Amino acid sequence: MNIFDNTLNAEGVVIVGAGLAGLFCALKLAPRPVTVLSPTPLGLGASSAWAQGGVAAAVGKGDSPAAHALDTQMAGAGIVDHGISQSVTEEAAARIADLAALGTPFDRDDFGNYVLSKEAAHSMNRVVRVSGDRAGHAIMQAIIAKVRQTPSIRIVEGITAVDLARADGRVVGVFCRKLGDRYVEPVFIRARATVLAAGGLGGLYAVTTNPPSVRGHAMGMAARAGAIIADPEFVQFHPTAIATGKDPAPLATEALRGEGAILVNDLGKRFMLDVHEDAELAPRDIVARANFQQIKLGRKVFLDTRQALGARILEAYPTVAQYCIEAGIDPVREPIPVTPAAHYHMGGVKVDADGRASLPGLWVCGEASCTGLHGANRLASNSLLEAVVYGARIADDIGGLEPATGHLPPFEGIGWDPQKGAEAEAILRNLDAVKRLRAIMSDHVGVERDAAGLKHALRELATLEATALGVTRAYLNMITSATLVAAGALRRTESRGGHFRTDFPKTDDTWGRHTEMTLGEALEIRAEA
Ligand SMILES: Cc1cc2nc3c(=O)[nH]c(=O)nc-3n(C[C@H](O)[C@H](O)[C@H](O)COP(=O)(O)OP(=O)(O)OC[C@H]3O[C@@H](n4cnc5c(N)ncnc54)[C@H](O)[C@@H]3O)c2cc1C
Repeated sequence: MNIFDNTLNAEGVVIVGAGLAGLFCALKLAPRPVTVLSPTPLGLGASSAWAQGGVAAAVGKGDSPAAHALDTQMAGAGIVDHGISQSVTEEAAARIADLAALGTPFDRDDFGNYVLSKEAAHSMNRVVRVSGDRAGHAIMQAIIAKVRQTPSIRIVEGITAVDLARADGRVVGVFCRKLGDRYVEPVFIRARATVLAAGGLGGLYAVTTNPPSVRGHAMGMAARAGAIIADPEFVQFHPTAIATGKDPAPLATEALRGEGAILVNDLGKRFMLDVHEDAELAPRDIVARANFQQIKLGRKVFLDTRQALGARILEAYPTVAQYCIEAGIDPVREPIPVTPAAHYHMGGVKVDADGRASLPGLWVCGEASCTGLHGANRLASNSLLEAVVYGARIADDIGGLEPATGHLPPFEGIGWDPQKGAEAEAILRNLDAVKRLRAIMSDHVGVERDAAGLKHALRELATLEATALGVTRAYLNMITSATLVAAGALRRTESRGGHFRTDFPKTDDTWGRHTEMTLGEALEIRAEA
């Protein structure tokens, strides 16, 4: 069977990305045939498998979807879509039951009830977890096992999507490339429905917790095809990535602070007490900025788990303990050095309640999308929840499509030039180009932003793009995403949630709304910078 046979896929569904959102959608679509594209072997290269905390859901005694929705709205700093937060939190229990039925070994007490963690800005213990900090790994293991046994799901590993294909104003599939095959013209996979589930953009930053394949490819691809992007400026920085110089930076889950771990500087001062009444459990953006401030002042920041957990960290949080031990830190006896790191993108490709993007034929789920759930700041552990809720909704929506009739329209080619393809390889090998892009984002579009820095970043991105134009589409997708984030950040002249402007430090009610942006608009802002 030739996987690139267009007729084979003409009625089918192609899912770009094999994290939780993409694979859950594929399972929910069964027995409808679906092709899932993954650059890496399943389970590798997805943020989903790295998630430590778990999935937020109101499944505990005394909790309710309404309370969960309210916490989501509070964390989102005034711009969460209330209808979406209500419907997503209401669907949470059913999706947790799905994950359990698929074989996820969630932690339970002697009575079979879920053991729930507490994370920042949740009003109660609400995070369903596995072996303390192994939720992502365990969920993905269970899902992958099921995917492998599902005959309607065809997995293609070692392949990267580089462009969305369009015809008559519709998205009709994707252009992709096998890894290591960059000299060859991208291959077209035609599809009736294209689901983009290729993750967020944390890897566009020099300091990130995201895997290397999660670098804004999804948003860049969709924006270049003409999709509307929402809230691109809102990037969440996790306050406690373990600072050992490793790229990506390993994470020390927030659940540790939920258990009473504290943040101290190298003078031993517990500085969060002066910053927020909830101290270490203040919303993530506040804790991340406080850590950033300490580092800016020349201090070092540590997460001290010793009193709260002692030796229990080794068994209760084996992933974090392992990261520490690998870095030569003994978490039982020493505080853990930490730093803020790009972690999650609240913005993304704008979708409606069914996961439909503004371009017909395109659905988007998981971190690549902007559903309106997170507003300016994601509530901890709401993203795996959003991934499964929208994965299921999209499967439902696509399941209702009538089979295509008549001839399939010819698609618009992408004007591949073999000469430039050869240049592409050279540039891509030049890792400095990627390094430069990531440094620009961390230095000027990071935890703190201002107009001068953002304009500088946009000019630098324009220069990088001039080098990359027509050269490598993967790189162009990254620069496109970076441009959207920087342009959105420059346009929003206030501070809110994950977006902090030192030149506009206050929240401004006139900005109390989602923003939308096309690539054309972002490029206009860039041209004026
Ligand atoms: C360290 C860490 C801890 C986290 N902890 C939690 C937590 O406890 N709870 C929570 O709710 N959230 C957590 N998050 C966030 C959460 O993991 C992500 O938001 C979520 O997993 C996103 O799922 P996804 O399926 O959209 O994307 P991913 O899981 O990132 O999957 C994206 C997939 O797309 C592929 N891909 C990328 N580009 C292309 C391309 N061009 N073509 C084809 N495929 C492509 C990737 O290789 C990958 O397979 C954490 C994130 C990190 C990094």
